[in-house]
Amino acid sequence: MFYAGALNAFTPFMIIRFAILPLFLALNLSMCKKQENISPSSQQASALSPTPAVVATPVTAASPKITKPVVDQTAQVIIFCYHRFVDKVRYPGTEITPAAFEAQMKELKDRGITVISMQDLLAWKRGEKNIPPRSAIITFDDGWKSQYEVAWPIMKKYGYPFTMFIYTEGVRGGSLGGGEAITWEQLADMRDNGVDIEGHTATHQDLREGHTIMVVNPGAKRTRTKLTGEQYEQWMQNEVVGSKQLLEQRLGIKVNCFAVPFGNYNEHVKEIARNSGYEAMFTVYGQPITFTSPMDSIGRYAVEANKPKVFEDAVKMIGTSSGGASAVAEIGAKDLSTQPADGETVRTALPLIKANLSAIGAIEAGSVQMRVSGLGVVPANYDPKSGTVSYQVTQKLHEKSCSVIISAKSQGKKVEAHWTFGIEEGGAGGMASPASTPKK
Ligand SMILES: [Zn+2]
Repeated sequence: MFYAGALNAFTPFMIIRFAILPLFLALNLSMCKKQENISPSSQQASALSPTPAVVATPVTAASPKITKPVVDQTAQVIIFCYHRFVDKVRYPGTEITPAAFEAQMKELKDRGITVISMQDLLAWKRGEKNIPPRSAIITFDDGWKSQYEVAWPIMKKYGYPFTMFIYTEGVRGGSLGGGEAITWEQLADMRDNGVDIEGHTATHQDLREGHTIMVVNPGAKRTRTKLTGEQYEQWMQNEVVGSKQLLEQRLGIKVNCFAVPFGNYNEHVKEIARNSGYEAMFTVYGQPITFTSPMDSIGRYAVEANKPKVFEDAVKMIGTSSGGASAVAEIGAKDLSTQPADGETVRTALPLIKANLSAIGAIEAGSVQMRVSGLGVVPANYDPKSGTVSYQVTQKLHEKSCSVIISAKSQGKKVEAHWTFGIEEGGAGGMASPASTPKK
């Protein structure tokens, strides 16, 4: 009976849906047009093109083809990571004063950098939601009670969302949760007020196989050991999967982000995290996050009392305070004769990356910038005479695909090109070297 009722309830909706379908299609088509060129001459070529494909006509100077995405693919996000908030800093590697922290939160506001939530970042990366062109995310690691007592009120004052990365044995009452640890009740209070709570393992240790770890035996006796093989895999299940389930069950939440302790990971660690349903993995290797940044190694800037420059440098990385939302013209990679070409697969993890910008027209001196996924901004060479920008990769690229973003200013307008190529090094197997990830 319930079922029939439900069907009936749906019928009028279905009719309405069919009625508005043609309207929706028409709207869609007109939106397509809007997405396309700024140059009216090439409008007709693209009006019916369902995807913002690059039209292979030769480009005359200063008329780059615009393929404006639904979400702003040129937006950039910087992610900060904090630990403890204390008036008197004794451990400058993991502490900061509340005053310094608040000054930084204020500076983000003053510079026009929008603090967004982690889930907004993920939605943007999935192409579901737009974010402001210059955004920041605030994360607190390890679950200290000063995050609840000191930092949260400051975040409330500014109306900023934030994310807590919790290792479950470090919560008060856990085998590693001392007097300074946050409690489950405090976490529940944060959850009720919209704070995002995410995973940071069970016992906060180096997750790579064969590294020395500390295990807590029954009776709370701790021993240092190195696990390999099946024992290691079992331990990993608890660290990566068990801790996620505990957070989800204890707090009734969905956990889809994973901060790797100390930023130490390798391909196997990534694989286990991916298989456990984590959508994004975070390290402490700070770099601006772009639309094409790989989701399994998102860098965060760890801001501590002994590294005051980290915050300033990060803020500068996403541009000067120009009021943000200036239009960016997207130019097709084909028009720039990129090397490697878009979609090409190369046989070396040390490729020469090259593009010819002469199709863009006059380029403003010093405005050319190249970003490479996994590396961030690279010191590329730009030759104004030939219009060629090039960079020889000097540090092996670890991912199987590499995205390049080139940006430049032409006639006061920002122009960008994005492309992606594959890397298949002969027989090397694509295993990331563990030593390549810097420690926290
Ligand atoms: Zn941590």
